[in-house]
Amino acid sequence: MSKSESVFEMALEQLGDAAQRLNLNASTLRVLSHCERELTVALPVVMDDGRIEVFTGHRVQHSSARGPCKGGIRFHHDVSIDEVKALSMWMTWKCAVVNIPYGGAKGGITVDVTKLTKNEIRRLTRRYTVAMLPIIGSHSDIPAPDVNTSAETMGWIMDTVSMFRGSTVLDIVTGKSIELGGSLGRREATGRGVMFNALELLKRVDQAPSETSVSVQGFGNVGSVSADLLQKEGCRIVAVSDVSGAYYKEDGLPITDMIEYCKSSQNGLLDGFDAPGMTKISNTELLELDVDLLVPAALEKQITEKNADKIKAKFIVEGANGPVTPVAEKILLSKDKYVVPDILANSGGVVVSYFEWVQSIQSFFWDEDEVNRNLKRVIVNSFKSVWEMAEREKVDLRNAAMMIAVDRVARALDARGIFP
Ligand code: NAD
Repeated sequence: MSKSESVFEMALEQLGDAAQRLNLNASTLRVLSHCERELTVALPVVMDDGRIEVFTGHRVQHSSARGPCKGGIRFHHDVSIDEVKALSMWMTWKCAVVNIPYGGAKGGITVDVTKLTKNEIRRLTRRYTVAMLPIIGSHSDIPAPDVNTSAETMGWIMDTVSMFRGSTVLDIVTGKSIELGGSLGRREATGRGVMFNALELLKRVDQAPSETSVSVQGFGNVGSVSADLLQKEGCRIVAVSDVSGAYYKEDGLPITDMIEYCKSSQNGLLDGFDAPGMTKISNTELLELDVDLLVPAALEKQITEKNADKIKAKFIVEGANGPVTPVAEKILLSKDKYVVPDILANSGGVVVSYFEWVQSIQSFFWDEDEVNRNLKRVIVNSFKSVWEMAEREKVDLRNAAMMIAVDRVARALDARGIFP
């Protein structure tokens, strides 16, 4: 893999920038440039027709300096160790920028889930869980959902761990269903956090939500909830997309109907959805629409040096992890655009995961208002710190967020010292 194709290189570049601005000493930078632990496993699974397929799974823990490692598990055909390493490092910064007591981790299986039956996916998940037993744990590394994994997947993981431990272990995963000790508001948390971040940004630049047009790339957990909540705040959602294509309506899409449609459609996709005045456009067109706010909420590397010049949105709020490459970001910033970085923009999920973990440990559960109120407090305060750091240091929002995060992790490392 060349340097330019590596997402981990992209994460290292962002760390390097922040380290330079913070005057971080070379030894600390050296430690933070490495992941603490990487585990790659072969996962044989008996398929429904009796064949045995072998899949590859990974779990990477980037840093436990500030607390147990935390991060989602992704099922996707593009999952690689390079990607999982980058995502685990971003989790470290994400937990630090919103100041929750976690380090960063990530996991993934290289698999095209559309080609597997539900039973096959369940066996694969359980096998992966057992392979990861030596390193996951309620106080060491707590998984959560990510692309193509859900509350149901978390239930299988929790049950597998519980079978091996001989007792029910609720706090081993977050993003569980409510029946298994999940938190109210967790499913919507990442999209709600995207909405809070977008509103904070609009407030700072004096732009009313009612005068803001929006396009959202990706209509899964993050994209659909972001679109729904931004619409409820008065924004006009003119375009959304998923792998089946992009859907456009100048005076605003019927987001609630689209979410309902996906609940019963093939693979949860928008394919086949129709509404008066709606047209289909390409995913490339969606990214380049003349809107005020763009929320990339699908996968990484969607805005690159190839299309950055064509992005017209003034505000980009990164719902996905790593959707804008460093080179593309330089182009966007040179055109006076604002990019709210992933580690802040999509941190709502891990914040409410933290609330869920706290509730599971205490066996004491909050109502949804309490969850949403606390989430808002954390996001609004974190956005304020990042905005003020950006103004004080005259840097963009990503550098400001990274400076706050890297500084917090570096201080924790310093306070602990290097073993032995
Ligand atoms: P998801 O699987 O629920 O949804 C992904 C969506 O993106 C689907 O609608 C899919 O069809 C669409 N998509 C994929 N490739 C696309 C493309 N090329 N063009 C248009 N649409 C495309 O996943 P999710 O949980 O919503 O996660 C989305 C992103 O947000 C990922 O980068 C993930 O790491 C990040 N994220 C998720 C959470 C969370 O709580 N779910 C938290 C933080 C960050």
